[in-house]
Amino acid sequence: MDQLSKCEANYVPLTPLTFLKRAGSVYANRTSIIYENIRFTWRQTYERCCRLASSLRSLNILNNHVVSVLAPNVPAMYEMHFAVPMAGAVLNTINSRLDAKNVATILRHSEAKALFVDYQYVQLASEALRILMADSQQGQSSMPLVIVIDDVDSPTGVRLGELEYEQLIQMGNPRFVPIEVQDEWDPISLNYTSGTTSEPKGVVYSHRGAYLSTLALILGWEMGNEPVYLWSLPMFHCNGWTFTWGIAARGGTNVCIRNTTAFDMYRSIATHKVTHMCCAPIVFNILLEAKLNERREISSPVQILTGGAPPPAPLLEKMEHLGFHVTHAYGLTEATGPALVCEWQAKWNHLPEEHKAKIKSRQGISVLTLADVDVKNLETMESVPHDGKTIGEIVLRGSSIMKGYLKDEVATSKAFKNGWFFTGDVGVIHPDGYLEIKDRSKDVIISGGENISSVELESNETGQKGDVKEADIISYCRKNLPHFMIPKKVKFLSQLPKTSTGKIQKFQLRAMAKTFQVT
Ligand code: ADP
Repeated sequence: MDQLSKCEANYVPLTPLTFLKRAGSVYANRTSIIYENIRFTWRQTYERCCRLASSLRSLNILNNHVVSVLAPNVPAMYEMHFAVPMAGAVLNTINSRLDAKNVATILRHSEAKALFVDYQYVQLASEALRILMADSQQGQSSMPLVIVIDDVDSPTGVRLGELEYEQLIQMGNPRFVPIEVQDEWDPISLNYTSGTTSEPKGVVYSHRGAYLSTLALILGWEMGNEPVYLWSLPMFHCNGWTFTWGIAARGGTNVCIRNTTAFDMYRSIATHKVTHMCCAPIVFNILLEAKLNERREISSPVQILTGGAPPPAPLLEKMEHLGFHVTHAYGLTEATGPALVCEWQAKWNHLPEEHKAKIKSRQGISVLTLADVDVKNLETMESVPHDGKTIGEIVLRGSSIMKGYLKDEVATSKAFKNGWFFTGDVGVIHPDGYLEIKDRSKDVIISGGENISSVELESNETGQKGDVKEADIISYCRKNLPHFMIPKKVKFLSQLPKTSTGKIQKFQLRAMAKTFQVT
């Protein structure tokens, strides 16, 4: 048996790049991408990616170099998910809602060798590059090569760099042989956290992690062959929760849209018969509040995978009424997107809609490639009982978890303890094994020795609008919440401080709260 324990000859590193090669041959004539009046087949997509990868090499982009991109969900953004690692480089998609200072910080920290900029973000990129230029004159950073992505339909005439995306495709070699992945633990992409609770950190994914997470989500969401996938989730979020690679694996069609407006989403769903889409719960409001002239009938059910924030049960129920089948997932950048999925069980089918929505609002069970998930008491490090009540921190381990934070050993070793990744989220485990998030550990409110889940508190919307006074809120809470959860004081703000991804910056609220007088 010893001889059989290692089979070097048959060892092939795991990488999602194999999905594209396979799609280019098995699904050669199927439509891979639809965007406005552009259509590509999988054969064309494979060829275009080979061309781009070869051009990147000829521009001296080499193994492990970082290639950044600032673009909406357009075909170029999709193609780069394959072409950049096919050139041996690492893809860094930048959140386009960041400001120029943060974009410059990412370019500096990642030491990006090239920056692809869609014309929509030319101004943001120019400002970021100006900041970087000031640094580079002081010898602190070097400037990336800039390549503009200019829509064929919307030429702007504005040129940031000398090179244009389609030129690189044209000049590339369609028969380029992708750089072989030597080690499946080699980096494939770099995603910066959005910084809800701290400074953004560079999360590095390996080829292996990306491959396994992609498969886990296809299976966890039961995505069959030939899905028609609407890009309502930015690809810059954890590489589109791995569906950039996943749609190639399933021979599906990518429906690309520039902006997630109600009009564009409904129009795409109706015209292209969309079967699947992902989005944060905030997008539900866009779909639910659409004006009559923006809406289209949902003639066959659209599967939605949602996560990134807790979706309130009443919102889930409204979405189901509209014709969307919602699956709830929980994850974070460090876990390559969704790590838990609220897998549906047939025994729940007969339950009343309201009850079903409540079940769906729980975060769920681990995806297949996670070795384990647990909720631990932080003092004793013991697992909490599965009683749906005892709170602890959610910990994860397995292949979906990042390699670590780029150039930040301190943060990396803080995040991992005894082989577990500590998420910073607190939750409970129900008797059926399903997890429910109660809060982020930093956001738990402690009052009179009791832990108050801010998520639970926030889910008690009054539904009242207009002229609400402090006394109304307090009396509503008295009627609906346990005594220890009733706020002592209420402060009204015209706007809540939010991150670029729309999450409330509670550390800002805490700082404000310190200045209030509580009598
Ligand atoms: P950041 O941590 O900078 O906001 P992420 O996009 O990685 O960036 O956010 C991950 C966090 O979002 C999780 O740690 C958790 O607090 C929250 N989150 C993600 N999915 C859910 C969900 N389904 N329910 C509740 N919270 C969620």
